[in-house]
Amino acid sequence: MDELVRFALSTGFTHAVLLDDLTLECEERLREYCNPKGCRNHGNNWVCPPGCGTLAECAEKVSAFHRGILLQSVSVLKPLFTDYRGLNRKHNLRLREFIEKYCAGQMDVFTLTSGGCIFCDTCTYPEPCVKPDIRMNSLSAYGIDVGKLCEKAGLEYAFQPDRVYYVALTLFN
Ligand code: SF4
Repeated sequence: MDELVRFALSTGFTHAVLLDDLTLECEERLREYCNPKGCRNHGNNWVCPPGCGTLAECAEKVSAFHRGILLQSVSVLKPLFTDYRGLNRKHNLRLREFIEKYCAGQMDVFTLTSGGCIFCDTCTYPEPCVKPDIRMNSLSAYGIDVGKLCEKAGLEYAFQPDRVYYVALTLFN
């Protein structure tokens, strides 16, 4: 499994930490951030409500996993202009490479990140998902507290004026 950490770091993640004994809690207060007013992905993507299912259905899916790798991209901000969406996309492009090269077809994985799934240029929703086994599910739709995850991994995750943190979690058995 140390190999998986090496693969993740070689893909460009700033940090990669294996987590054991995971019991993920799906919290309603965090799911509330997923709403049609707050996010343009709502109702347009398989990984966002309503496509991703109810919070109870999400909780059931992640309850099947108790191990994972936390992947963090840390970006230093430019003083006058920061393209947050672009930085999130770079993080997810890294994630796509990691999943496709090192995980797909080799293990049963379930991935969560921020910013929506980017496997397709345009999500096929509501037509069937083209990569249901490896798609990038949403941490916020699953009501997962990213701060708690980072704390468990011993990683920093707090508002900083000069840097931003993007996080993904790939679960496996
Ligand atoms: S793999 Fe494609 S169809 Fe499936 S959730 Fe991702 S973007 Fe949508």
